[in-house]
Amino acid sequence: MSATAAAFTPNFNTPSLKKPSTTVSTCIARLSNTSSSSAPPPSTPSLIRNQPVFAAPTPIITPTWRGDMGNESYEEAIAALKKLLSEKGELAPVAAAKIDAITAELQTPNSKPAFDPVERIKTGFAKFKTEKYITNPALYDELSKGQSPKFMVFACSDSRVCPSHVLDFQPGEAFVVRNVANMVPPFDKVKYAGVGAAVEYAVLHLKVEQIVVIGHSRCGGIKGLMTFPDEGPHVTDFIEDWVKVALPAKSKVKAEHTSSSLDDQCVTCEKEAVNLSLANLLTYPFVRDGLVKKTLALKGGHYDFVNGTFELWGLDFGLSPTTSA
Ligand SMILES: [Zn+2]
Repeated sequence: MSATAAAFTPNFNTPSLKKPSTTVSTCIARLSNTSSSSAPPPSTPSLIRNQPVFAAPTPIITPTWRGDMGNESYEEAIAALKKLLSEKGELAPVAAAKIDAITAELQTPNSKPAFDPVERIKTGFAKFKTEKYITNPALYDELSKGQSPKFMVFACSDSRVCPSHVLDFQPGEAFVVRNVANMVPPFDKVKYAGVGAAVEYAVLHLKVEQIVVIGHSRCGGIKGLMTFPDEGPHVTDFIEDWVKVALPAKSKVKAEHTSSSLDDQCVTCEKEAVNLSLANLLTYPFVRDGLVKKTLALKGGHYDFVNGTFELWGLDFGLSPTTSA
């Protein structure tokens, strides 16, 4: 077991939980550029169970691309600003400056071409279709019949931590929920129906075998949690309410790491919030049921993109007698 694992022993202080007997097994994979050349060739995963799972017809979308789309949005922006200008005289200098900036951007002949989101999406899909979809007909033929992923993954919405990218999940391998700070809130049909629906679908219908909650380095959601005041009026419509799902993790870190810097406290809280999410998963009856029957396992992970490491740990909540193999 590594030093990192020894230094970080999950310890739950959630009041609703009986003190769990916890065992931790950790592996840390250090990413290296030199190992990729010796990787075995990928094999086509077998993804389909005999029983088809819920499948909906795929909608056919025929996009239409308009060459003048970009310019029109500029013209609309200028028209809206001019309207504002005529209605609110005191905004004149601000609006006039914005109109000048937009007009200059349109008229500068040698400026860097503006980012074209439609072109980016078209190019991206064309590359995927040429390099992956067309070259792997067996996989996509199976996926057209249904999905049977082994993993459910909770990951942060952060653009740097896509789990399919970081863990090389292929289509059909992982049922993924991404939200700010990769949180699993407790079972609540009213407040957290979106997360509840995903967990219910993954566990009861897709019958995933593993739920993995993955935190990450430099998480803005966790930093927000650690720095937002616990009391007083909120300054955001949603963010504070959401990240405070992990308030017990924050309290634990603040109590146990009083002398640490904020950055170090954030790293600890990134992992502690994962453990809180794993504990929250126990409030979902079908998750508890799966753990007792050993058809389901929970794992925590932490992806550190600063150092290029991935830490993984398993948890045994002691819900059933352990069996030795
Ligand atoms: Zn994050």
